[in-house]
Amino acid sequence: MVSQGKLPRAMADTDPDCIFCKIAAGELPGAVVDEDDHTIAFMDISPATRGHALVIPRRHSRNLLEIEPEDLTATMLAAQRLAARVTERLGADGVSLLNSCGRVAWQTVFHFHIHVIPRYDGDPLRLPWEPAPGDPDEIAAAAAALR
Ligand code: AMP
Ligand code: ZN
Repeated sequence: MVSQGKLPRAMADTDPDCIFCKIAAGELPGAVVDEDDHTIAFMDISPATRGHALVIPRRHSRNLLEIEPEDLTATMLAAQRLAARVTERLGADGVSLLNSCGRVAWQTVFHFHIHVIPRYDGDPLRLPWEPAPGDPDEIAAAAAALR
């Protein structure tokens, strides 16, 4: 554990104001379903489907852009483990993983987390955009900016 008083918040292991840090520390209730040295997974209190859970790194980081690579790796591996489990134990027909990075991307809790959302044939979830062919020049311009 890093001494929080000597480091900027972004570099501290925990954030005293973060509800997910408190769940990881056992200071707030959480229906924990999986844990290892680097991660913990617990049920989402507002599930999108039956079995919707969240996987977090124990070490606090705000989002995808700030998480340390080893925590990201451990969290994604834990999400894969849980995806297999919801398939086996809950009979999910598929799984959607979701991570939102930033308020505009719908992030509401600023401790990195991966939603593991079991999917069932005929469930009510829908893509949040309507797929339609984009303008080829705009796609090419964005691609050029990304290279
Ligand atoms: P996001 O909007 O991607 O940041 O996701 C935050 C998620 O955390 C939402 O799906 C909430 O329902 C969930 N959530 C918020 N507080 C709690 C809590 N105390 N225990 C479990 N899930 C929570
Ligand atoms: Zn936190």
